[in-house]
Order: sequence, then C-alpha cells, then structure tokens
Amino acid sequence: SLLPPEDKMKQLPAATIRLLSSSQVITSVVSLVKELVENSLDARASSIDVKLESYGFDKIEVRDNGDGIKAADVPVMAVKHYTSKISSHEDLQSLQTYGFRGEALGSICSIAEVSVTTKTSADDFSTQYVLDSCGHITSQKPSHLGQGTTVTVHKLFKNLPVRKQFYSATKKCKEEIKRVQDLLMAYGIIKPDLRIIFTHNKAVIWQKTRVSDHKMALLSVLGTAVMSSMVPFQHQCEDSEVLLNGFLPKPNSNYTLTSLSSPDRSFIFINRRLVYQKDILKLVRLYYNLMCSKDSIHSYPIFFINIIIPASAIDVNVTPDKTQVMMQNKESVLLAVENVLMSLYGNLPGILLVENNN
Ligand code: ADP
Ligand code: MG
Repeated sequence: SLLPPEDKMKQLPAATIRLLSSSQVITSVVSLVKELVENSLDARASSIDVKLESYGFDKIEVRDNGDGIKAADVPVMAVKHYTSKISSHEDLQSLQTYGFRGEALGSICSIAEVSVTTKTSADDFSTQYVLDSCGHITSQKPSHLGQGTTVTVHKLFKNLPVRKQFYSATKKCKEEIKRVQDLLMAYGIIKPDLRIIFTHNKAVIWQKTRVSDHKMALLSVLGTAVMSSMVPFQHQCEDSEVLLNGFLPKPNSNYTLTSLSSPDRSFIFINRRLVYQKDILKLVRLYYNLMCSKDSIHSYPIFFINIIIPASAIDVNVTPDKTQVMMQNKESVLLAVENVLMSLYGNLPGILLVENNN
C-alpha cells in the first residue's frame, strides 16, 4: 500500500530517540543497580552501599567511597556518550573497566529522577547535583558526604508505564530483590576486597565484609557447608594467553541445586565481568551430571569459573547489558574448561562437545 504524500519519512524527536535507547539500557531495577555498581567499581571503590526502598520504585541509591567525579567532568557526567574510560574504539582492545559507552547515567536520567553527590580527594566538601532528563545539572548544593559518589534515583520508569506496572507485581518485585542480591554476590566473589551492604526498606538483605581472596569471598557468599564440597582449580592454556581458575563441586557433592527455581549459583566471569556463557554452563552441567549425579537427577552444580583473557581477544559490546561476550579463541577456552572438568570428574567416552560446537 502506498503512503499518503504527507506521511513523509521524518527524523524522530531527540527526546524520543533518548527514551527509546535509554529504555533498552535500563530494563529493570537490577540492570540499573548493575550499571551503578560497575561505575563504583570502575572508580576503584572498596565499599558499596546499595539501598532500595519499595523495591526500588521509591528509591534506589548506590553509594561508594571511590575516586569521585572531578569538577571539570561533572557537567557532562550524565550526558550520553561522555565517558572518562575510553577515548576511541581502539581503546576497547585494552579495556580494563566495566563501562565504556557513557550511556548509563544519561539513560537513567531519561527514565527517572536522578541526583549525584560526589567528592574527589581534591575537593574540600561534597556537592549534590540534581539532573534533568537530558543529564544536565539543574541545581547544586554542598553536602556532608565523604569522598566518593552517591547516585540517588527516584520515580523509576516514570515515563514507561508498562514496565512500571510489569515490575510492580508483588511476585516480580520480590524476584528483583533476589536478583539484585545475586548480582551483588557475584561482584562480592570477583572482588574479594570489596565491602557490600544491600538494604531494602532499611533492613539488611545481604552484606559482605572485605576478605583476602576468592576462596574467602565464596565462603561468605555460599557458606561453609557448600564450600567444604568445592575444590579449587587453575589452568593455563598452552596455545593462548588464557588463564582459568575457580572452584568446582567435588564429585558427588551434596550441595548442588536440584532445580533452577533456586537462585542460580553458577558464576562465570570473563575478565571480572559476570557473563552468560551457555556453552560453558552446558559443559559443566554435562560433565557433572554424567559423571557424578547420584540418582541421575538432573542437578545444577554450584561453581565459579574465572577466565582471564587478553582484552583484545574479546568483544563485550554485543548487548546493552554486556552479559554476552564474544571470544576470539572460544574453542580453546572451551577446551580448557573441558580439560579442567575431565581432570576433576573423569573422561566422558565418546563425547567431544567442544568439537561439536564448531
Ligand atoms: P561509562 O561508565 O560507560 O563511562 P556512565 O554513564 O556509567 O558511562 O558514567 C559516565 C561517567 O561518569 C563515567 O565515565 C565516570 O567518569 C563518571 N562516573 C559515573 N559514576 C561514577 C562513580 N560512581 N564514581 C566516579 N565516577 C563516576
Ligand atoms: Mg557506567
């Protein structure tokens, strides 16, 4: 059908473009918390407080003791595509930070009401800035907070009624609290020297003190019983600069999960980034279940795999939430995981999953 002549193609208004992309970056309470926590970690914080009120709909606040935001950067801190982390696409080859797109703060401003309080070591006192939907500063005043940054978010999804309603359902709300907790646990594991406190309506939901290593961090997240059934591993790939370490359940551990309705406790990190890697998940479950499962019940082993890989060999800019990571030498990484699994659980005759994956 032909379009009537007055319906010519036109560019969308700037505010519409902003809202469309912002609502893909911030899809839920947990994705918002993830962005703020990653900013705190990029600012080298050693302590992070996450506070939610009414499941995040009254308030989400993330406070850190990191570097703070320099006065010169403050006017653009929440303007989209401004970042202190990279200056060109080439810098992704040596990326060390969680963030790099300069999109999170700007996106949050266009779907909620935001204020940022910050102080660097060079500042005499902290300043609270109120931001508008474009990420521009509308007012500022001195504040009493110490060094670091606090981002406070009110009226989440104020202009996205479907999403707001979707997450307001009681069941969904409670799930989101669990998911925030799971997310914070993951950062707690990968950053042992990080202190985390997570509160909801002023009640502490979960917290972790600073510890010395991954093992101690896992202990505080999973508990002594679970950890007593885990074994550490370390593996260096021969042909590539890939290093694997972590903890897997001992054969016939009593502490696997028997359904996925329990919280997911399979932690896979690539360069300290929590990722969803279906192939690795499948490999671990396959080996564990075929070699160790007692009564052939399908179980979901609890494990932690930490993959260290040259930044130039991965592409993290695949999805807005950065949980999908493409690896250049994925086969050799999968092979390495399989080697670890074989040495722990034994060889699976006739199954060469990695080769089937090509
Ligand atoms: P990105 O993290 O991709 O750079 P963001 O929108 O998340 O984009 O943040 C924009 C910039 O604001 C960051 O590059 C950083 O300089 C600054 N910033 C944001 N949050 C913090 C924080 N908690 N501590 C220090 N600086 C921050
Ligand atoms: Mg960021």
